[in-house]
Formats: sequence, structure tokens, C-alpha cells
Amino acid sequence: MVFKTFLLKYGEIGIKGKNRGQFEDALVTRIRHVLSGVEGEFDVHKEQGRIYADVLGDDDSFDPDEVIAALQKVFGLVGICQVMKVPVADPDQIARDAVRFIAQEYSLTPVEDPEEGSGESVPFEPDAITFKVHTRRANKQYPVNSMDVDAEVGAKLLDSFPGKMKVDVHDPSMMLYIEIREEVFIYSKIIPGPGGMPVGTNGKAQLLLSGGIDSPVAGWMIAKRGVTLDATYFHAPPYTSERAKQKVVDLAKLVAQYSGPIRLHVVNFTDIQLAIYEKCPHDELTIIMRRYMMRIAEHFAKQDGSQALVTGESIGQVASQTIQSLVCTDDAATIPVFRPLIGFDKQDIIDISLKIGTYDTSIQPFEDCCTIFVAKHPVTKPHLDVIQKSEMKLADVIDAMMEEAIQSTETIVIR
Ligand code: ATP
Ligand code: MG
Repeated sequence: MVFKTFLLKYGEIGIKGKNRGQFEDALVTRIRHVLSGVEGEFDVHKEQGRIYADVLGDDDSFDPDEVIAALQKVFGLVGICQVMKVPVADPDQIARDAVRFIAQEYSLTPVEDPEEGSGESVPFEPDAITFKVHTRRANKQYPVNSMDVDAEVGAKLLDSFPGKMKVDVHDPSMMLYIEIREEVFIYSKIIPGPGGMPVGTNGKAQLLLSGGIDSPVAGWMIAKRGVTLDATYFHAPPYTSERAKQKVVDLAKLVAQYSGPIRLHVVNFTDIQLAIYEKCPHDELTIIMRRYMMRIAEHFAKQDGSQALVTGESIGQVASQTIQSLVCTDDAATIPVFRPLIGFDKQDIIDISLKIGTYDTSIQPFEDCCTIFVAKHPVTKPHLDVIQKSEMKLADVIDAMMEEAIQSTETIVIR
């Protein structure tokens, strides 16, 4: 067996002082969660500022690519390294282990028991791997200093892969890391993690999740900062279909791969929308509708223990997202509304949605409740007092309707 563990490096959480243990625990929880969904058995544990996922089965009990893809969805991780773990031994033995490592990782065949210095006489092939050995002696009891280990390992690699490996200390294409601890770790690739902070370390927020491109990205961005998510989706049957709802469930599943489980509240918004349509000026429909969405989402936020709302709005994207419109929408909420995409161009948002894998689902052409009852010429500069006055026309019916919408909401736990 060559690879025995994944070394998982984290960034920002390292600087959190007293909270550090809590941050590490949240990270370990998330790592265990994502690894429970892939093939293989792993022991995830923390040790001296590092997190490890030890492979419990043999080399073909897991698919490294699948494991890495899963770990790349764990916020807080900045580096994922597949590591060979061998017992502490003299530098000559470490060098032999390094040869085994390189043979496996780079599919090269080593020369058996090469003579010392034999590699030097062979000309380098054009595609020779340029490398540098970087030894860290975390275990100070180890009697040989790191530079001597570097030299021994480097020489052995040159002899074992003549012409195929070349030392370059200034600009190597491969760094071979040797860490001497309670055991010796050998690795050469640091695959980037998603960054951010572990989910569960920064409170909870309620995402207004539609079937569009923006709101899944907004949720992903907030979750990336360590915030646990729940979500509210408004549909309008029979004007919107079951498939439109399924699309939102699918999007929630994609976001949940990063954020962990999401409680998705599916609110039947039809009666409220019809009432607004019937009683309020048509150019104000979207704004008024948005305000009721905020109020209902806030209800679920409080119920779920969330401190804020999250939307996918961005200044000026559509009529309901001008500054004046956002002011009117904001007014309906009594808790903070986070709009992480506020200054993003549509293309920036699309780029993220492609990267996180929500784009293809978002562009499926199903109707959204907001697009059904839209005015031809919506107000772009609504005045709050005018909007509030229009809402008064709903006074007789709206409380009961809100209550009914809340009571009839279906909550789906997305894992
Ligand atoms: P998205 O791509 O997220 O749907 P959008 O560009 O279509 O955004 P709007 O339809 O104006 O923009 O919606 C603005 C925001 O309001 C959305 O990002 C979302 O947070 C919220 N929202 C809109 N429609 C719904 C809905 N049906 N259910 C829940 N939230 C919604
Ligand atoms: Mg939308």
C-alpha cells in the first residue's frame, strides 16, 4: 500500500485564537459528513494543527479522485494532500520510500538498487521532472538534519530514475515534501481546497432560494463564510409546476453538498399573489410580492433560529433590484438581509455557478412565480410610502393569507 492518509490543510481558521478548537471540530464534522458519502472507510482526526483522513482499507478500497472531489466541497480547507505514511527510519530508508512514492504517483519505473551517483552520467530527457526535496523535521529527536535528508533523497531519486528527474531548486515543477513526525509523511501535490470557513462556525441564515442562477450562488457564498443555511422557496401552483419545484429541490441539493443539510420551506404563494394582483397597482406587483416574501422568509428564519436573510439580488439587474426597489424590499424585513452578489455583474455570477455546478440546473426553463404576475412596465423607482399605501388595500385579507401560507408550508430536509 502506498497512500495511507489525506493530509488536510486549513487556512483562516488557524488564526481564530480561542475558537480554534471549535473551528477544527466543525471542520472534522464536515469532513466526516462528506466522506460518509464516498466509497471507502476513513478515520478523520485532528492532530497538532493538522487534520488527517486516514484510509482504513487498502489502496483500492477508495477512489482518490472521488475523495478529493468530496473534500473540495468542505469550506475551510485550503489544501488536500494525498500522503504516503511510513515509519520513521534512517535517511536511506526514507529515500527508498520516496522512490516508491514517485514510482506510484508519476507512473515511473525505478532502477532496482542503483549504484550511488550512477544517475549523474545519464543525459536528461526533455520531459524530465524538475524537482526539489523539502524536508521538515517536526520531530526534533530525529538525529539527521533536514538538509541532509534532502540531499540523500534527491540523490537517490536521480539514481533511481536516470534521465527522468532533474533537480531544480529555484523553479521546480514538483516539490517533494518529506515531513518527519511520529511517522514520516511523503507527498508532492497540494490540491487546492475551496477556502472559506467551516460551516457551523458563523451562525445561521435563511436563503430565499428561487430556481434562478443567482440565489444558489448567493447561498453558496454565505455558506462559504461558515454560515449554516436553511431556505425558503415560493411557488404558485397551478401557475408554477411540480417540475419548477423539483428544480429548486435539485438546486438545494447542490448547495447542500457544500453547506450540509438544508431545511427547505416550500411556501404556496398563489393566493397572496392573486390578492396582490387583484388589489394593488400592477406596476408595483413585484415589489409588493417581494415584501411579502421577505416577511414569510423572516418567519421561517426565526423559527429555524436564523439571524439573517440571504437573497441573490444585485444592484440594477432588473427593475426590482434598483436601489429604490431594494430599499422598499429591505423595509419589510426586521432582521438583516445579506445580498452577497450586490456588486456582481451577471457574468461574474454565472462564472461562480458554473464552478460550483448549479448553472446547468438553474438554466432549465421552468416558470417562476415572479414571472407569472409581472407588469409590463414595473416601477423602477418606487417610493416606500406609496408602496406601503398600496399594501393597505390588502389589510382585510393579508393576515389570514399569510397565516394560511405559513400553515400549509411543506418543509423538506435536503441532505
Ligand atoms: P435568481 O436567479 O436568484 O432567481 P433573479 O435574477 O431571477 O434571481 P429575481 O427574480 O428578481 O432575480 O429575484 C431576486 C431574489 O429574490 C432572488 O435571488 C431570490 O433570493 C429571491 N426570490 C425570487 N423569487 C423567489 C422565489 N420564487 N422563491 C424564493 N426566493 C425568491
Ligand atoms: Mg428569479
